Parts: sequence; structure tokens; C-alpha cells
Amino acid sequence: MFSHFSLHRLLVKAVRELKYRQPTPVQSEAIPLALEGFDLQVNSETGSGKTLAYLLPSLNQLLNRSKQGTGTRVLVLVPTRELAQQVFAVCQTLVKHTNLSVVLATGGDDFEQQAELLEQSPAVVIATTGRLLEHIKKATVDLEQLSVLVLDEADRMLDMGFSDDVHAITAVSNPDHQTLLFSATLNNKWLPALAKKLLRDPEVLSISGGRTEHADIHEQVMLADDDANKQKQLLWLLAHEYFAKAIVFCNSRERAERLADAVMPRRRKVGILHGEIEQKKRSSVMASLLEGKINVLITTDVSARGLDIEGVDLVINYDMPRRGDDYVHRIGRTGRGGKDGLAITLVKPGEWNLKASVERYLGHRFEPRIIEEVKGNYTGPEKLRASGQAVGSKNKKDKKKALGKKLKKAKKPKRNKKIAVKPAQSSADTKG
Ligand code: ADP
Ligand code: MG
Repeated sequence: MFSHFSLHRLLVKAVRELKYRQPTPVQSEAIPLALEGFDLQVNSETGSGKTLAYLLPSLNQLLNRSKQGTGTRVLVLVPTRELAQQVFAVCQTLVKHTNLSVVLATGGDDFEQQAELLEQSPAVVIATTGRLLEHIKKATVDLEQLSVLVLDEADRMLDMGFSDDVHAITAVSNPDHQTLLFSATLNNKWLPALAKKLLRDPEVLSISGGRTEHADIHEQVMLADDDANKQKQLLWLLAHEYFAKAIVFCNSRERAERLADAVMPRRRKVGILHGEIEQKKRSSVMASLLEGKINVLITTDVSARGLDIEGVDLVINYDMPRRGDDYVHRIGRTGRGGKDGLAITLVKPGEWNLKASVERYLGHRFEPRIIEEVKGNYTGPEKLRASGQAVGSKNKKDKKKALGKKLKKAKKPKRNKKIAVKPAQSSADTKG
């Protein structure tokens, strides 16, 4: 029960209204330690309830301080605008019985309006790093009273190259603050350096399993001849598969645009979202998806991290993701809050070996799915290695080498996790 934590009664009241039966494992472990004031480095899989795990203890500080402070005392940094909006919404439900104010500072929205709100020193700021730095430069935000800094999806922030931004932000913040660093994986290659620099004697929590309740994601793979074949398959799935909301992932903005151009004339209620789209449009697409005005979102990995969209029960990988952890995060958009989900990955000839390496990395195989009406001629490589890779693939030598390296890394599964996550490599077009 949440009432077992020594949380302020107004927070307990708000949580009770959410009707969660009990804290998730990451909440049970992280909340008491954070309440005691420890710096934390927490790794816990997507969908495990990290948002409350950091918001509740952070907000508690604001309510319980013997000397109630003024100024911005809690700062939550996240990698994307959409995630910031989502955390902002959760935060607002948690503070609704208090008089704490929460302000969202993300790129794309009107700067002056945000500046006006920030100048009133809200207790909590939820931000993306780029926009927050603009506010710092214009002195519209004051972090000298900061008492808790949260980095959510820290590994993703590092992947996106925000490390310098984070350091620039901490440089102007009250040095005497608690830092809570949350990520879905600890084996991001830049994470140790960030943790070393930001955390003081941290408690390190690595929580295995723990998706909220018994979420079950069925993972299927469909073979395709080429993009044209994939488009047919996708349209078939969107027309025949039973689903409430679907997210379709592409590997680049360009591919998402091209796919949207092909799908939108043939299917209603489809939206597109990626990092180059202007903010107003991004917000309205997200709102439409939440409200159900659209039920298919074509997007890039910008939407793969952290977003919790009610009712997403189908994820389609139009492109095979290039990294195991991208795959895990994409399919993690479904099967949330204990509900079942279906993930279907479309694989064309050049993507077979990538599929095989992701399967090895996950430690399980995808279920083959064949739809007679739209199946192609491709049935996979003629001969397979024990690894599941194609024998004698026509790849150039250096490509093979690179793949070998990838496999080596994939061979080391993390012991205590259902789904292990591969070390991150920077990949330009996952920035959405
Ligand atoms: P993460 O950040 O680890 O990916 P979220 O914080 O977004 O996970 O939570 C995932 C889902 O689980 C959300 O829909 C959230 O409302 C729900 N949730 C969070 N805590 C609980 C809980 N204690 N019991 C049931 N559902 C919960
Ligand atoms: Mg999250």
C-alpha cells in the first residue's frame, strides 16, 4: 500500500484516487531510499512505474520541509517534449490537493509565456534540456534553491547527446541537491561517467521484471519482399487486425514521411509524428491520439521512450529497429498497465540478420505470421547458421565484421532481467 511510505497525506490522497492496488517493485524500492535523501541510480524496465517512483519522493520534499522553501526546488529533465508533457500531466494529478505549482518548459511552445510562468518560481519544473538552457541564458529560471534533480530516461538523453546540456544545467543549480537518475538500462556506455559526475554515494537499484501486473506482449514477425510489399501488409493489418490504437515505427523521419504519404490516402485516422514536425502539430497529433480522433500513429524512435498512451495495443515495426533496446522500447508502448499487446515486425531480406541478432539478444524467437493475401515470395535465407543468421550473406567483409561485434555484445545477457538491453551506439536518425 502507498500509505506505508512516509508520504505526506495530500500525496497519499492523490495516489489513492489513482486506484493503484499496490506499488510496483521499482516504487517499493526507490521511494523509501529517495525519501531518506539518498542519490539514486535506478534501472528498471519500461512500463515498470518509474514516474511515480521519482515524483512521489520529490514532491514529498516540497511538502514536508520544516522550513517550506520558495523557488524552484524540483527539476525533472526528460529527453522528449511528449514525455515532458506526460510527466507534467502525472505530476499535476499528484499535486492536485496541494498548492504546489508545476511548469512545463519544452521547446516548440511559446517562450515568453513559459518565461512568465517560470519567473514566478514554480516549485516544480518539468523540462527538456535545450529549452531549459535558453531560459537559463535569459535568466528566466532560477535553480539556486534546487533540492531534487531528476533525470528520467537518462540513457536516452545521453544517446541524444544531451550530456553537456545536463552539466550546464547542474552548473547553475544549487550544488547541494539530491539527484535521482532513472533509466531503462544501465549498460549505456556514457552512463557511468554521467553517474560519477552527478551522483554522490548513490544507492544503485537494478530492478528485474516488474512491468505493472501481468502485461503480455505477443511478438510476431512477417517477412516481406520489399517496401511495397510491406506497405500492403501494413494496410492489411490496419484494416483487419483488431486493435484500439496502433503505433507504427520507422527508422528515419524520411521513411516515416514516405510511409505516411502512402498510407494516409488509403486509411483515415492516421497521424504522423517526428522531431522535424513543428511543435503545435506534434501536440495536436498527440492530443488526437489520446482522444482517439486518430488511432494510428506513424512515427520514429522519438516516440519510443517513456510515452504511456492509454489503449495502445498494437505496435508495428515497419522497419526492423537497429538495436535491441530500441526494439524493447518500441514494443514497450503497448502492454502497459497490465494490458496485453501485440507487436508485429515487418522484415525484408536485408533485415533478416538484424532480426536474428535482436532475437538472440532478447533470448527468444518471434512467432512467424503469414497472411495469405499479402504474403511475398521471401521466406528467409536458404541456409542458417546456428546463430539464426544467414549463411553466406552477400554483405561486404567489413559489414560482417560489424555484425560479428554486435553479436558478441548480444551474447552477454544480463542475468537478472527478462529483457537485456544492448549498449547504446549513437544512431543519428533515432533522434526523431
Ligand atoms: P515507466 O516510466 O517505468 O515506463 P510509467 O511510470 O510510465 O512506467 O508507468 C507505466 C504505467 O503503469 C502507467 O500507465 C501508470 O499509470 C501505471 N502504473 C504506475 N504505477 C502503478 C501501480 N502502482 N499500479 C498499477 N499501475 C501503475
Ligand atoms: Mg517513464
